[in-house]
Amino acid sequence: MSRVLIIGAGGVGGVVAHKCAQVPEVFTDIVLASRTLEKCDKIRAQISRPIRTARVDADNTAELTALIREVSPDLIINVALPYQDLSIMDACLETGVDYLDTANYEPRDEARFCYKWQWDYNDRFRDRGIMGLLGCGFDPGVTNIFCAHALKHHFEEIRTIDIVDCNAGKHGHAFATNFNPEINIREVTARGKYFENGRWIETDPLSVHETFDFPEIGPREMYLMYHEELESLAKNIPGVRRIRFWMTFSQEYLTHLRVLQNVGMTRIDPVSFQGCEIVPLQFLKALLPDPSSLAKNYEGKTCIGCVIEGIREGKPGKYFIYNICDHAEAYREVKAQAISYTTGVPAMIGGMLMLTGAWRGRGVFNVEEFDPDPFMEKLPLHGLPWTEKFLE
Ligand code: NDP
Repeated sequence: MSRVLIIGAGGVGGVVAHKCAQVPEVFTDIVLASRTLEKCDKIRAQISRPIRTARVDADNTAELTALIREVSPDLIINVALPYQDLSIMDACLETGVDYLDTANYEPRDEARFCYKWQWDYNDRFRDRGIMGLLGCGFDPGVTNIFCAHALKHHFEEIRTIDIVDCNAGKHGHAFATNFNPEINIREVTARGKYFENGRWIETDPLSVHETFDFPEIGPREMYLMYHEELESLAKNIPGVRRIRFWMTFSQEYLTHLRVLQNVGMTRIDPVSFQGCEIVPLQFLKALLPDPSSLAKNYEGKTCIGCVIEGIREGKPGKYFIYNICDHAEAYREVKAQAISYTTGVPAMIGGMLMLTGAWRGRGVFNVEEFDPDPFMEKLPLHGLPWTEKFLE
């Protein structure tokens, strides 16, 4: 018996609401709140169980605190934008409510993300007796749990981790992003970075690439990028020597991105235009398709997983664990595309494990710090089957 407050009614928020509604024995009462009430109401109309909706500006801790006091939830699932993480965590501290998110904090005026800002809440969460679970989407999220599972069940020691993320879907637009365009373009145009032998090595944006043969998809070119789970895995997987993150992009996507960058449309600093200040990337977001609108005609699959090398039964071993998700199937089930689906399902499962006490703690945690078994058991039951195989 518990009440959840979901903040953010975008592509991911819709999936979280649908998936929580499918588990009434845990999520007895669901409230969906976001900046635009109509978006919450649109999602509510798709769900057969009654859920409540509310309007809130989560940048405003006082407004959010008032809503939390009124709703009195047991857990807040934050699937708004990374900009809101700290104000929502502040409201959780104020009201003594547990917190979960899927993306780490980013300041608006700097394309930089790191866990420090949120890890710094650990002592205050611990002293307040509440729990914060960070990065419980797919990547970060399931990919971290795949690593914890490999360490628990297959390897005495993990030496290298390569997270590989392929979206082989087609949405029919020349250029669109699969989640919030502003966040996505900031991430893709940033310098690459990976962890090796205790050091962070930087690379020029999208300059390192190689071909990987994805199951059920085939060979695709993937590009080395920095991604937030590298930071927590470097801390939490003992003795790991190298961790890299790779994502596939089509040539068409890369060409559009290069042109947009060259003409200044991806800038995040304000420019003066006809007497008002606009941020080019925010303006571009307004022109691009809303990621949730891509879902209806999306076809094809995603494959996201981890290639792990280490010591297994005393000998070197190589292993691949992954999920395949189908865009059209996700749409049939919850009116979302696979990127939102693969993020929203793990957020719901993380929430379920917190509310049922399977994952508990006081302070701020990353998902790989908990026992991976209950999470891995629930993934296929709620729509994300996984496959593992030994390559060597
Ligand atoms: P969308 O842009 O589709 O949705 C974001 C939602 O948050 C919108 O409904 C938006 O409202 C709302 N919102 C924004 N600002 C505020 C605010 N100040 N107060 C209240 N609500 C607000 O994004 P997605 O659904 O695609 O992504 C949601 C989150 O999931 C992001 O943080 C993203 O980084 C993360 N993510 C994580 C992944 C993972 O695997 N870990 C993968 C994909 C996404 P409005 O419509 O009014 O703007």
